[in-house]
Parts: sequence; C-alpha cells; structure tokens
Amino acid sequence: MSKRCREPERTCVGCRVSQPQASLVRYVLSPQQQLLIDYRHKLPGRGVYTCCEIECVVKAIERKQLQRSLKAEQLQVGPDQLVASIIETLVQRIENLIGMARKSGQVVSGSQAVLNGIKRNEGFALVLLSDDVSTGISSKIFGAAQSQHVDVFQMFSKGRIGEILGKGERSVAALQAGKLARAIKLEVQRYKRMSREN
Ligand SMILES: [Zn+2]
Repeated sequence: MSKRCREPERTCVGCRVSQPQASLVRYVLSPQQQLLIDYRHKLPGRGVYTCCEIECVVKAIERKQLQRSLKAEQLQVGPDQLVASIIETLVQRIENLIGMARKSGQVVSGSQAVLNGIKRNEGFALVLLSDDVSTGISSKIFGAAQSQHVDVFQMFSKGRIGEILGKGERSVAALQAGKLARAIKLEVQRYKRMSREN
C-alpha cells in the first residue's frame, strides 16, 4: 500500500480542535524562557499550536493552556499583546512575500499601469491598494478589478508600498497569478481575521 502523504495535524490549545499543522500558528519558548511566535514552524524545541484566530489565541492564554503546554506557567503574556505580535508577524510575512514577488518580476505598480493591466487581462491575481489612496483612483481600480474578477486588498501606506517595492510612493500594485500571489492571499485573509478587518 502506498503511504498517503497526509498532512500532519496538531491540536489548537485554544479550541482543542485538530487541524493541519501548516494552518496553525506555532509557539516555542526561547532559551531565555520568552514566548516566541514561530510562524514559519522552523524553531527548535517543544512547540504548541493555536488556530490563526483571535478567539483561540485569547482562550489559550486566558485559560493558561498555552502556558501549561509549554510548561511555563510563570509566563507573563497578555492576550492582546500576543494578538498584536501575531498581527505584526503577519504584516512582516506579507511584506516579505511582496518583496519576493517583486524580485521575481511578478509585480506591476502605479495606478495607470495596473489599470491598463487589469483591462488587458494580464493575469493579475490580486491588487494591493494603499490605505491612503485617493478616492478617485480607488474607485477606478475597484471598478476595473471587479469586472475582471481580480481580488483587491487594502493595506499599508503608499510610502510603505513604495519601500517594499524599492521605489517611490506607490498607491497601487498588482501581483501576477502564481504561488506567491496565492501565499499572499492566504496571509492577507489571516491578517484580516486577526485584525478584525472584515
Ligand atoms: Zn483553535
């Protein structure tokens, strides 16, 4: 019999439900007994998991399940603080992924270039709009993206998007369909759930 390549599962210490390990957030203790978010599941040591959901993180801390599972009942960490750290981790992850997409030539930026690309159906998987984009550009992009079924998400200032792309201010950027765009979409969904931006 062929061994099926089943994804390993782990139990969330908040809701107690088993999920594929890759979908969970992993935590470990540093040698200094600090709680670390091991988002990429790479750090050594005993790992404890929660779903990437506010409720599970809050429950895990408030009921001391996370502390107990790590054998670190003395751990001083508040639920809000942990949620904020996870959000920060997600933001960094999204920035890194966009940077990687840029390096492999999968990003188009600038409102006119993106607008033209959407209209010509150039295979964008998603469009990133800055938080401080003008309403004029925003409505044009949303209109065009909707008619071509391209997802749009709003995050970062135009200054920050420019920095991530190694350029001046950019209020609009688009990502070509592919692995990186899929990964970014997933992280953006997690970010929205964690930051209650729905
Ligand atoms: Zn859970």
